[in-house]
Amino acid sequence: MDKKKVIVIGAGVAGLASAIRLQHAGYEVEIFEKEKLPGGKMHRIEKDGYKFDLGPTIVMMPELYKELFELCDRNPDDYIPMERLDPMYSVFFGDQPDDQYDISSDLVKLTATLEKFSDEDAKGFMFYLQEIYKRFLVAKNHFIQRPFRNKSDFYNPSTLKKAFELKTLDAADHFIGKYIVNERLRQMISFQTLYIGVSPFTGPSLYTMIPMIEFLYGVWFIKGGMYTMAEAMERLFLELGGSIRYEENVEEILIDGKHAKGIRSNDNNHYSDYVVCNADFPFAMKHLVKDKKAKGKYTDKKIDSMKYSCSCFLMYLGMNRKYDEVKQVHNFVFNEGLEDNLNGIFNGKKLENPSFYVYIGSKVDPSLAPEGKDGLYILVPVSELSTSQYEWDEETIQYYRSYVLNALKIIKGFENLEDEIISETYMTPRDFESKFNAYNGACFGLQPTLSQSNHLRPQAKAENCENLYFTGSSTHPGAGVPIVLLSAKIAVAELILDDQGILIDYT
Ligand SMILES: Cc1cc2nc3c(=O)[nH]c(=O)nc-3n(C[C@H](O)[C@H](O)[C@H](O)COP(=O)(O)OP(=O)(O)OC[C@H]3O[C@@H](n4cnc5c(N)ncnc54)[C@H](O)[C@@H]3O)c2cc1C
Repeated sequence: MDKKKVIVIGAGVAGLASAIRLQHAGYEVEIFEKEKLPGGKMHRIEKDGYKFDLGPTIVMMPELYKELFELCDRNPDDYIPMERLDPMYSVFFGDQPDDQYDISSDLVKLTATLEKFSDEDAKGFMFYLQEIYKRFLVAKNHFIQRPFRNKSDFYNPSTLKKAFELKTLDAADHFIGKYIVNERLRQMISFQTLYIGVSPFTGPSLYTMIPMIEFLYGVWFIKGGMYTMAEAMERLFLELGGSIRYEENVEEILIDGKHAKGIRSNDNNHYSDYVVCNADFPFAMKHLVKDKKAKGKYTDKKIDSMKYSCSCFLMYLGMNRKYDEVKQVHNFVFNEGLEDNLNGIFNGKKLENPSFYVYIGSKVDPSLAPEGKDGLYILVPVSELSTSQYEWDEETIQYYRSYVLNALKIIKGFENLEDEIISETYMTPRDFESKFNAYNGACFGLQPTLSQSNHLRPQAKAENCENLYFTGSSTHPGAGVPIVLLSAKIAVAELILDDQGILIDYT
């Protein structure tokens, strides 16, 4: 019997993971990707002998990365060799030794760090872990690994009871504040909601499970950086017999009556039994789905009225030396006025004193920079384009560049940073929009507010069109590499359910 054909739009993490799962399940899969490389936001920037991860850098929940390779009877170590980072990262508040913290996921070292704040804060931290771990198990087993195809999948007594156990109404910072008094420690355990583009001051407290995941499951590094994962997924997909077409800009999802029947790309039609769309959901609904009925409730007006996660300004700096004084791969430079900073991000202001993040992959993998040199990746969270009250022109870039280079002088080793730069590249919200079709340049897709989460977030199966599925950060369960890997798992399970009537147990 002929294999059924699936077209996947986009070779981002979720597109590649869906394609691998479908090819493995016996479908003939072809990916159409507008760029020249796999990975989407998990791209690589190569310049002047330096190699930078473009977007994601922090590997959490490594078992979800490995699952894809194990599913296809491969040894993950042959594709994505990983090492655990301990300490996980450094946090800098100022230039004194007491202003700098190395955060470990080793309980003995972590307890020593916590007790330096106070015994009460250390005790509070343990209570926080206990409470959030309970809620994490509910989320893991009942919400983030399953779809909400019909309203009744959420609105039934057993799921509603579990939803109640998630206790989602509290904001992250407020929840942490119940357990921890010290302001700095609170910031260190709540800023991680920014990993999915939402403020800890407004984002649901459930997302304080992100630091919990770091503490309990560790932070990992893949040899070669994150981009190794993108290359490894591409390699696995090709080994399984799949095909990828790069520089194919999909212009339309072809819909005949109530069924998707293929795509139009670079002015050519391509037909298939199913279409899986990894292009950002709001972008795809607005620009690729032209059929009004198939859009359903996702009209252009609705898409524009939804809330979007923050964006990022990134600098990729090739340096003329190594920075042995800076010990960790991941570094967070905090401004004490974090709340103002975050309000500014979500109110569209040009930020006066932003906190930011510095990643030095070449510390653990020297092959990422020329011999004896380091490459610095610097990320400043900024407003997405629909809220931003300023333009991303040369002046804005220079504004943030000078701020960051000046602020970095507090870190020992970085005092003369500006003079040590020999190569420079940037990514702005406009680049995320034009390169990857990220709607509003939002780096993490739709914001995971309560009204845009679980059953209220776009689902894998299109509501008003058969044979069409969505995957990626703007769909359920949300953003972040491990989470979009789950979104791919869900999308594929939904397709197989429709095609073969086989119900996959998601938990
Ligand atoms: C700066 C930054 C830092 C991050 N840090 C982390 C981190 O440390 N850890 C972590 O886990 N996560 C992190 N994330 C989040 C994570 O990178 C994303 O959630 C994830 O990579 C999104 O994958 P995706 O498949 O949903 O989307 P994308 O990567 O956006 O993939 C979509 C793909 O579709 C393609 N496409 C779009 N439109 C079309 C079209 N019309 N035709 C053909 N192709 C099309 C795009 O080119 C792209 O390749 C970060 C993200 C950013 C931007």
